[in-house]
Amino acid sequence: MSRRILVLPGDYIGPEIMAEAVAVLEVVNSQYQLGLELEEGLLGGAALDVHGVPLPEVTLQQAQASDAILLGAVGGPKWDNVERHLRPERGLLGLRSQLELFGNLRPAILYPQLADASSLKREIVAGLDILIVRELTGGIYFGEPRGIRTLPNGEREGFNTYLYSESEIRRIGHLAFNLARQRDHRVCSVDKSNVLEVTMLWREVMEEVGREYPDVTLSHMYVDNAAMQLVRAPKQFDVMVTGNMFGDILSDAAAMLTGSIGMLPSASLDKNGRGMYEPCHGSAPDIAGQGKANPLATILSVAMMLRYTLNEAEAAAAIEQAVSQVLDQGLRTPDIAASGQVAVSTREMGAAVATALRS
Ligand code: NAD
Repeated sequence: MSRRILVLPGDYIGPEIMAEAVAVLEVVNSQYQLGLELEEGLLGGAALDVHGVPLPEVTLQQAQASDAILLGAVGGPKWDNVERHLRPERGLLGLRSQLELFGNLRPAILYPQLADASSLKREIVAGLDILIVRELTGGIYFGEPRGIRTLPNGEREGFNTYLYSESEIRRIGHLAFNLARQRDHRVCSVDKSNVLEVTMLWREVMEEVGREYPDVTLSHMYVDNAAMQLVRAPKQFDVMVTGNMFGDILSDAAAMLTGSIGMLPSASLDKNGRGMYEPCHGSAPDIAGQGKANPLATILSVAMMLRYTLNEAEAAAAIEQAVSQVLDQGLRTPDIAASGQVAVSTREMGAAVATALRS
């Protein structure tokens, strides 16, 4: 049975990095006879230019009819002055919420070849491989009531509501435990249960979910300690699971441990494992059209898509190995090149990965 992949290149460097990712996907598609059918669509500024909205109905329908979505990046100065509800990023947020993509996976993997690109010492980060699982559609970012009001004494007060229902916690918990089963069988749940009732419930429900996975070890950590441990000894973690706001902050900190934003893939999954896959970085308008963008984050997002939505672990591993091989060969785009080193272009990096796959 054929499976449909929606490709949304997006804006600025989006089409450049996506061209390389699609070329790599086509290689494994035929090598492993995956039966994937690729279709292209418009999102963000590219959609705004053609349809007048950042998430056109046609794109939403394409997305709903596909098994997985590959996204480049959206946004950029061309659309900085459009009305707020038309901004390219609204298209992305709209797609995430329409498809109920509640589980955000952000791996932080440091290829040993790039250990010197990290701001931390080589021995602390070399070989790092952690997975942060962030709840994406609930928590304080979405809780009601919210707003800014004026008190009787004339002073203004801002307020938000931090809410998690048991079912929301359970859902992200199961996702994290299942992912841990594909890795080192350890889950660290991050909360602030010494202060916040909502995360006391979070901890209780995680314990309950954990009892269904006796082969996975569950530990808990307060978020302040987790932030400290991430920069002190990050290799102690396997899977970290946390709510929307803590996950937002911790995943960015973890990303920086790896040195370059051009290397980091991500996934956002729904309850059936369908998902959207994209690099962690944005549309990098400053380097667009110059062949300087690193396509590896997008290529590694293809590998995540094969592993987590399409259950094609072998093809996923082949792509990851090919990436490691080109790094071994010394190929570097400008963002990961050592000073004085001659860098390769976006196209050359993508072609090298495709060649490594074929060899
Ligand atoms: P950015 O991630 O686009 O760029 C930050 C820095 O990292 C820039 O110097 C850029 O050149 C560099 N960089 C990013 N990706 C790179 C790559 N693949 N290879 C080499 N260098 C790379 O963040 P920004 O500059 O804050 O945002 C630019 C635009 O992207 C904005 O419009 C923003 O809203 C949008 N954005 C989109 C997404 C998304 O589509 N998911 C995410 C973040 C930002």
